[in-house]
Order: sequence, then C-alpha cells, then structure tokens
Amino acid sequence: MGRDWIVSILSEIIKRKAVNPLAGGTGEKERADYLENLIRNLGFEPRRFDVKDERGIIRSNILVEYGEGEPLWLIAHIDTVSAGKNWVGDPFELRIEGDKVFGRGVSDNGVGIMSLLLILKWISEGKLNPKRRLMLLFVADEEAGSRYGVKYLAEKGVFKDGGSAIIPDFGNKEGKLIEVAEKGILWLKVTTKGVSGHASMPHRADNAHTKSARLMLKLYDSLHVKFYKLNPLFDPPYSTFEPTKKEMNVDAINIIPGSDIVYWDCRVLPEYSLDEVIEFFRGIAKRYSADVEIILREEPSVTSPSEKIVIELRKAIETELGIKPKTIGIGGGTVAGILRRLGIPAVAWSICSETEHKSNEYELIENYIKTAKVLAKVASQSF
Ligand SMILES: [Zn+2]
Repeated sequence: MGRDWIVSILSEIIKRKAVNPLAGGTGEKERADYLENLIRNLGFEPRRFDVKDERGIIRSNILVEYGEGEPLWLIAHIDTVSAGKNWVGDPFELRIEGDKVFGRGVSDNGVGIMSLLLILKWISEGKLNPKRRLMLLFVADEEAGSRYGVKYLAEKGVFKDGGSAIIPDFGNKEGKLIEVAEKGILWLKVTTKGVSGHASMPHRADNAHTKSARLMLKLYDSLHVKFYKLNPLFDPPYSTFEPTKKEMNVDAINIIPGSDIVYWDCRVLPEYSLDEVIEFFRGIAKRYSADVEIILREEPSVTSPSEKIVIELRKAIETELGIKPKTIGIGGGTVAGILRRLGIPAVAWSICSETEHKSNEYELIENYIKTAKVLAKVASQSF
C-alpha cells in the first residue's frame, strides 16, 4: 500500500538535512518547504508559522487543518539529532534493504511525518473521512526543547480551541505502549566555592573539589531518602537524581581548585513538586558553600488513563493491530508534556524500530503504514 510513494518521499526528506541548530544544523526550513509543497499538491492549504531564532536561523512550523468538530492534534517534528559516527553509507541518503529504510531521521521523527502524510493522502483519495477536526502539525525544534516549535505555537494561540492530542514520537516495535505521563525534569548547575592554593600547602587553601565531592555524595543519599515514593506507572517507578557533567576546574596537578562545578539531572515523580526538590537541594548545598542554578525546569505531566483520548487510541490499537496496549509513564520529555500543561489531554504513541538517536537508524516501511492506520482509526471510526 503506497510503498513506492513512501520511499520516494522519504528519500527527499532525508537528503534535506534538518539537524537541530543546537547541533549545528540549518536545514529545518528547507525540509519544511518540501513538506509544504507536497501537502499543497495533495490539495490542502497548510499554514506556516516561521520564526527567526537567536542564531538568525529560520525555524519552520506547518499546520494543516481539515474537517469539523472537536480538534484532534497529531504532531510530528521536522528536526533531527546530528548523525553521529559509524554509519554504513551516508546518513543523509536513504538506503533501502528489503522492508527496512536507513537514514538519520527515518524513525525519529520519520514515523510521525510519514504517518501524518499518509493520512493526508488517504483523505485526498477519498479513503478516509475524518469525524473530527484534524489539526496536523509538523513542528520545529523538538530535539532542543521546542522553544521555536510547540512552545512558540502555544504563544501564538494555535492551541486555543483545545481538543486532544496524539504524538507519534514514542513507542516500541509492537505498538503496545501508550505514554500518558512524564516525570518533572530539573537540570541543576552546582558551583562549590573554596580557596585556591598550592597543592603542597593545603592548610592555606580550601579545596573546592573535595568539598564538592562530599556534597555530591551527601545530596545523592539525601535526595533518594527524602523523595522515596514509588509510582508503578513509571519506568523506573521512583524519582531519579544523577550527577552527570563535570566542568574542568584547574589545568595543573599542583593547584588546589578554588571552585568546582557539577551538573545534576533530576527526574521527579508527579507526587512531588519541583519547588520542594529545589528547596531541599539548596538547603544542603548551602552547608557546603555551594550555589545552585536552574538550567532547565519542566513540570511533570499526566493524562489520566481513563481520559477519552486514551480509550479511543486503545480501541483503535486493539482493532487495527489485535493487541492489548498498556499505559506507562516515562522519565523523558516529549511535546505531549507541553500540551498537557496547556490543558490538552495528550498521549505519545507509535510503532517504531526503537533506533532513535542511534547510528544506522532505521525503520520498517510497514511501521509507517500501521501507525497511520491506527491514527486514522481514531480520527474516523468509519475508516
Ligand atoms: Zn523525536
């Protein structure tokens, strides 16, 4: 069903490199221009929401609206992560091996882009007659926080009519996982201060590195004890607190560092408020003369498993795929979280190869079609 059509479009999409500008890319607009033209040729009138970012690069978003009734948002992202190393062949030239296609972005978020395009194709051919107002979005900047994508569209009032949303940007090979919740995210920069000096005279200095190490262990133990609750919806079912990146302090072995910087990545269950975590974190840091700066803060988000959109999607998966899906929560962040915080019930779901962000990212052609069929089923019971 439309295999050649899918392959020809994917090869055009993949060669228009849309690596997120945070990783040095500039091709998001070029890919959006191609998509817009394709959508127009299918007989639709898409709207563009372009905006210049802080680097002066144009960031592009496309909205296609079709039908009447309560909005159903289907959202795919245009940008990708960088290619990375160890590819067989050029990551920006589509490579085909049987039912598999390889290339950066074929899965993340090729599954989203292709399934939305298939829905538009089926509508244009009279094979799909949606019972709801479809709001199909192709957005920028998902791989770097969505400031110029979904968050920008929210500022422009694009989501003012509400509705519900499915984000085909998360999933597994069978299509049995419906993501309904995301933990809160905190990225913290912890700067511990001391007094620098010569390593042979530590009594005249105050070693920020040892202080920082003590603080790190104290925080690690205290945070896990204080925020101990479990929620079986999530994998893992507890809040996580991990010291990750470490900044370079001194460049000589014989200098005692006067300052030491460590970053933390915290993923917090919705049972706790992020304010509570920050306050506790700062309280301990203060005792070690350390400052805590918030680099990123995303509140947790939950769509109840009994919400209509979850039930509709569940039914569509059961009918189309013959499997029983389960609802789960994750520690990562998708645009579903942003929509939930805007008051729009949202789920993230797709059938995908689980090769996102990896070298030799690939996807199965049948996964584009299966994902599109399930989404089409939600849009219209008569399909
Ligand atoms: Zn993605």
